[in-house]
Amino acid sequence: MAEIKLESVAKTFGTFAAVKGVDVTVDHGSFFVILGPSGCGKTTTLRMMAGLELPTSGRILLDGEDVTVLPASARDIAFVFQLFALYPHMNVRQNIAFPLRCQNYRRDEVRRSVEETARLLRIDHLLDRRVGGLSGGDRQRVALGRAIVRRPKAFLMDEPLGALDSEFRKLMCGELRELHDRIDATTVYITHDQLEAMAMADVIAIMNQGRVEQIGTPQEIYDRPASMFVADFIGAPPMSFLAVWASLPRGARSIEVDGVPLEMPQLFEDRAEGSLALGVRPENVSFADSAGLRGRVIGAEYLGTTQIVTVTTANGQIKARLPSGNAVRIGETVGLALRPDKLSLFDAVSGRALSSALYGGHHG
Ligand code: ATP
Repeated sequence: MAEIKLESVAKTFGTFAAVKGVDVTVDHGSFFVILGPSGCGKTTTLRMMAGLELPTSGRILLDGEDVTVLPASARDIAFVFQLFALYPHMNVRQNIAFPLRCQNYRRDEVRRSVEETARLLRIDHLLDRRVGGLSGGDRQRVALGRAIVRRPKAFLMDEPLGALDSEFRKLMCGELRELHDRIDATTVYITHDQLEAMAMADVIAIMNQGRVEQIGTPQEIYDRPASMFVADFIGAPPMSFLAVWASLPRGARSIEVDGVPLEMPQLFEDRAEGSLALGVRPENVSFADSAGLRGRVIGAEYLGTTQIVTVTTANGQIKARLPSGNAVRIGETVGLALRPDKLSLFDAVSGRALSSALYGGHHG
């Protein structure tokens, strides 16, 4: 286990800033996921943790020791790529043993470590089989075996399941997380898939254009997004936003949307001024005849037990998750009730969430 800390780490390629001053602490034993769209700087950040890329500025600490300029070979960290290449002409035992052989471990030590690793991954019955003939899942397990056999301080994984089909991916996600818990590892895992991140992570860092937008548990990030980018990236469908122009004093208890006052449980500490976006997740919207906020139903997507209903209002579209038994007619006008304690409010210009007294402090 290890603690990995990045302090103001930045990386530029020529004039292009790929990572712009990232501060992150990965605690001992944590399953830490870096989540973000393609090109946001996830891989570059991970490669700097691994020692495969030198930061342009900032410091990297491994268990408190400054390893910023140490090469990968001196860091005792395992890096697991997507499409991890196995040696097809070797059997499972030889593949898993390979990293130990390279480091001249004693024969009996190699045998013991390989067998222990294979048992852990439940592939001990395959040790003498050629990898060429194995199923996709078993090949992934052998690849993992090769990464964990050295018992490194930490695992860095770059979309290791990216090439798998979605059913199998789900299965391997569960196995990876279970393995992490069994061997008490510290894992940093990269993905652009929010569902994978939510399912696996203890802590998620969401990156956007080289910066970290928010770090938190999956629930914190879902319930209290620090920015419109996060609110939009997380959740399927994502949060809906209503455009509001407001001038609210500190501690305001209601906000006017299209002339209709909506209740807020003393949500916002700061003054909220100007162009704002009121955010609400689909499960916190319901239809209520008495509600002042009105809209017209323009679509409904059937999802089995629930349906996602899209309603257009004067201030923007809202999606509501309703029981699929509720009869909904396209074109009808409905009243919309929004759960006050679940509302988010953003500065529409900067995209940042306004700080909130309800949540005991500032966002982000
Ligand atoms: P993806 O999921 O697509 O791999 P990512 O979030 O991992 O994306 P990075 O691979 O870290 O993103 O790349 C971030 C940005 O830096 C991209 O715009 C990429 O083109 C650029 N970049 C990465 N490596 C280099 C390099 N060696 N030289 C120049 N630009 C690079």
